[in-house]
Amino acid sequence: MAGKAKKAAAGSKPAVLENDCIFCKIIKGEIPCSKVLEDNEFLAFMDIRPIIKGHALVIPKSHCTNILDFPKAEETDLVEFIKKVAKAVVKATDADGFNLGMNNGEAAGQVVMHAHFHIIPRFKDDGLVSWPHKEYAPGEIEGMRNKIKSFL
Ligand code: AMP
Ligand code: ZN
Repeated sequence: MAGKAKKAAAGSKPAVLENDCIFCKIIKGEIPCSKVLEDNEFLAFMDIRPIIKGHALVIPKSHCTNILDFPKAEETDLVEFIKKVAKAVVKATDADGFNLGMNNGEAAGQVVMHAHFHIIPRFKDDGLVSWPHKEYAPGEIEGMRNKIKSFL
């Protein structure tokens, strides 16, 4: 796949070439990172601009853009890897909980176009505001549900 551009599955922005991908450069050791854990498939390292101190990132070592083109063979191992890192982040920061997050597509806030999972320690008094909620008009929720189901 090296050198070949793919269209991003979530968002209109074209996929980043592996050679230009900052996280691929971290994997190859061309750019430094504060490594937390790695195995054959995944790498965990500290987010350089944390939402809360202790914020870590987990990335697959093979380049993919987001969750929709994530390699199937690695899905099961990924959950175990994330759990391992998240437990350590929570213990190290003495957090009350953590957010596991992923931005898929530019519109969702994805800046680095190499799939990555955010592990963000949370504290009861950390002041981070949750996402605001909207209300559906009467009947609207069923219309949306039916539309989603039509694509399954
Ligand atoms: P996203 O907005 O979901 O694409 O998140 C990208 C994340 O990568 C941000 O939280 C950045 O702070 C983080 N980041 C970008 N470059 C680096 C880097 N060289 N080392 C560590 N974290 C980085
Ligand atoms: Zn990459």
